[in-house]
Amino acid sequence: MLIQKHSNSKKQTTPVIIIGGGIAGLICAVHLVERGIKPLMLEAEPRADKI
Ligand SMILES: Cc1cc2nc3c(=O)[nH]c(=O)nc-3n(C[C@H](O)[C@H](O)[C@H](O)COP(=O)(O)OP(=O)(O)OC[C@H]3O[C@@H](n4cnc5c(N)ncnc54)[C@H](O)[C@@H]3O)c2cc1C
Repeated sequence: MLIQKHSNSKKQTTPVIIIGGGIAGLICAVHLVERGIKPLMLEAEPRADKI
């Protein structure tokens, strides 16, 4: 996954795709959103929170 170095910036320059909405993917999404980066999450199952 490639993330811009100055991640506190609200300006998103790099598209981020998270493959898998397990706990790792969900935590990754939270950290990205907190830094102003809006990821696209791709999950094979109908729900992303199977645990
Ligand atoms: C029976 C069982 C019981 C467990 N009980 C516990 C427990 O009590 N406590 C605990 O801490 N841990 C428990 N674990 C372990 C815990 O479930 C895992 O450590 C944790 O889910 C791993 O998270 P992850 O996000 O890495 O992977 P996963 O949770 O496996 O998430 C991966 C996600 O990626 C999706 N995916 C896979 N391939 C693709 C694809 N090609 N495209 C799109 N999406 C895809 C999957 O559908 C899934 O949603 C248990 C595991 C099992 C199997």
